[in-house]
Amino acid sequence: MDILTSVAPTQSLTASWRREGLRVGFVPTMGYLHAGHESLIRAAAAENDRVVVSIFVNPTQFGPNEDLEAYPRDWERDRGICRSLGVSLIFAPDAGEMYPGGFATKVGVRGLSEVLCGRSRPIHFDGVCLVCLKLFNVVGPDAAYFGLKDAQQYFVLARMVKDLNLNLTLRPCPIVREPDGLAMSSRNAYLSGPERKAALILSSALNKAREAAEGGEREASRLTGLVSEVVATEPLARLEYAQAVSTDDLSEVSEISGEVLVAAAVWVGKTRLIDNFILPPVGGAG
Ligand code: AMP
Repeated sequence: MDILTSVAPTQSLTASWRREGLRVGFVPTMGYLHAGHESLIRAAAAENDRVVVSIFVNPTQFGPNEDLEAYPRDWERDRGICRSLGVSLIFAPDAGEMYPGGFATKVGVRGLSEVLCGRSRPIHFDGVCLVCLKLFNVVGPDAAYFGLKDAQQYFVLARMVKDLNLNLTLRPCPIVREPDGLAMSSRNAYLSGPERKAALILSSALNKAREAAEGGEREASRLTGLVSEVVATEPLARLEYAQAVSTDDLSEVSEISGEVLVAAAVWVGKTRLIDNFILPPVGGAG
């Protein structure tokens, strides 16, 4: 397994693979890898000849009062996981390599970036688009793998790939959960014992809404109302939003018809957690 921290050697290594006719799969991450990331790496390995994982805690997607400095890191463990899963290359640049002096370019997807999580994180998706566009240009993958845990991220990036005619396929992958249902996330490491128990309210609330939808409820406000009612029963949790949106453009829907994303964010103490489900499911059971 190669480990590279600079752009130029990464571009030449992946270019040499493409010249040999090898298919390259790419999994962008911020490290502190868990079973959710592992599922993306496995999906990439199943469909490609080479798998590249990037590990980069991208400063441009964190707001001024967010957890950039505190974001958990464990380089040795991440390297071991990548090696054991047969990853060919870890690209692990630092911020100076990605954003050298004089860097001045902005990228963004209007509309889709401004709803759901974008309301409270106004610069987040522009930062995600910027870093992913750069990473796609560095790695040159045939396919890139994203978890539906961050469903809005996937739909924003899919729009960018389409709008800019980027020559790669995005693959959405199902949410991986802890045995009790909590969606896996590097940020779960912030939770204290009591907060970890309280965090379960998010997946429980979404499950209630999903069951109602599967039972025939078609009114979006009933489903999101159920989510807020259930979250309100947990004193340690505070709902930021629960919304039902069309997966086409992430615009709010009033009726469940076509493909609908039901997404929610809750605060448990100082930790912000997100989760969602899609009706009907895409990319496997979410
Ligand atoms: P991150 O390291 O949090 O930026 O995540 C890197 C990739 O892993 C993103 O595509 C995430 O959506 C994906 N991911 C994170 N958590 C999960 C999970 N629980 N299940 C599936 N994919 C996940």
